[in-house]
Amino acid sequence: MTKALLAIDQGTTSSRAIVFCPQGEVLACAQKEFEQHYPRDGWVEHAPSDIWNTILEVCRDALAQAEINPSDLIAAGITNQRETTLIWDRNTGEAVYPAIVWQDRRTAAFCARLKKEKKEALVRKKTGLLLDPYFSGTKIRWILDNVEGAREKAEAGELLTGTVDSFLIWHLTKGRVHATDATNASRTLLFNIHKQTWDPELLELFGIPASLLPDVRDSAGDFGHIDADWLGAEVPIRGVAGDQQAALIGQACFSAGMCKSTYGTGCFLVMNTGELALTSSHNLLTTVAYRINGKTTYALEGSIFMAGATIQWLRDAVKLIDDAAESLALAQQVGSRQSVYLVPAFTGLGAPHWDPNARGTLAGMTRNTGIPEIVTAGLQSVAYQTQDLIQAIQDDGLAKLHSLRVDGGMAVNDWVLQFLADILQIPVERPANTETTALGAAYLAGLGSGTYKSLEHIAELWKTESIFSPDMPEEDARSLHQGWLNALEGTKTISRLNTGCDQ
Ligand code: ADP
Repeated sequence: MTKALLAIDQGTTSSRAIVFCPQGEVLACAQKEFEQHYPRDGWVEHAPSDIWNTILEVCRDALAQAEINPSDLIAAGITNQRETTLIWDRNTGEAVYPAIVWQDRRTAAFCARLKKEKKEALVRKKTGLLLDPYFSGTKIRWILDNVEGAREKAEAGELLTGTVDSFLIWHLTKGRVHATDATNASRTLLFNIHKQTWDPELLELFGIPASLLPDVRDSAGDFGHIDADWLGAEVPIRGVAGDQQAALIGQACFSAGMCKSTYGTGCFLVMNTGELALTSSHNLLTTVAYRINGKTTYALEGSIFMAGATIQWLRDAVKLIDDAAESLALAQQVGSRQSVYLVPAFTGLGAPHWDPNARGTLAGMTRNTGIPEIVTAGLQSVAYQTQDLIQAIQDDGLAKLHSLRVDGGMAVNDWVLQFLADILQIPVERPANTETTALGAAYLAGLGSGTYKSLEHIAELWKTESIFSPDMPEEDARSLHQGWLNALEGTKTISRLNTGCDQ
């Protein structure tokens, strides 16, 4: 009889379930997209019923495809879009408002007010985060203040809150367990990452009653059982982590200094910093990488807004290519030593620049510049932005990276990974299994259920598919990157001038 692990991956645009065998091979995968709601400018919501129904559907579908009896599941692990926030009734399970998604900016004015009141240093010190609408705390407050009767009910102990993991755990266990894991808690603005507790001073600052909050548990551990009514047999939930942390685990980055970068729509770079919760002077976030056996491992995180999305822009907006995959042949034709730079600051610049007003530029063109050069510059921008993040990590005093593990949709492009290795001057490793987020959830479930004895055991299962080694002299890499920094400076100057015009 085949024994398996079930990874439940609740993402921003779709819900997925993947059945893994204990060696980490995929046995079956099911995915279902759901609707995004944009009720106003800057607002993004998900229907809680969509989150729940798509998860049930994909879990049942993946089990059927794998021809696995639910009673043969050793355990389930959950990974989720982070920061997205829900509040629901503890008696009925009904959400009092749609899920407010991480991208939602409705609490920007409140964040600005707290910044003006000089609260950011306190928040930063305790949570490792910045005062930004991105995180959950101000979203919880918004629901309590704007949904009729919500605050009264919350104060009477009738409501519960949580990120998507908590919401799913509560429903999967039929209300028996209201819990989250330390990685998800670390994205709320309410959790003291050093003490590993909800912070009374922050709860007061954000006006959130403590009775709403879930119990914070280790990332590998006991989160109750999926009720037999849902999948046909009870399934223990033994692992939980937010998506980027799950990818770090799925990439087996278990030692301080190991780093993964996920190239999807945007790019998320997460570096394991071991027992040290380092504070960045370059706007990187400090976060919980995972908590296992009561021991917290920390990480530094930097995000870039436009990675694969730049290729989407080249395809859909300026129509220079029909398909993302075409970019590879064009870049091969141009080669890496070109002087055209595309700075894709379409929605501002993320880490380490954090410039919301910056806008994109195309620099360094000549009469010979055509479609291939511009597309190549789009691919190159991803490597240059990664180098900026890694430089920021090093400027924060960390040792030079030995290698970078990559995943995400864009990591299929060999040319990009070779250029990345050239610019970073370190080897870039692509794993055999690129489903790293779901794999991380499965690994945690396996660890929490005793299938794996230790993180070392998991590290032995992790396999490389390709290693891209630097193949460009360091001087050339430096001079190409310097060209990027010059283009970036131009972009920032234009954004300063434009901001000046607006005033
Ligand atoms: P997400 O999880 O954010 O939806 P994925 O990990 O599925 O994203 O990656 C999709 C992204 O990868 C798209 O933005 C697409 O432009 C990019 N992409 C896909 N294939 C290629 C390719 N061959 N070369 C460059 N970029 C690619």
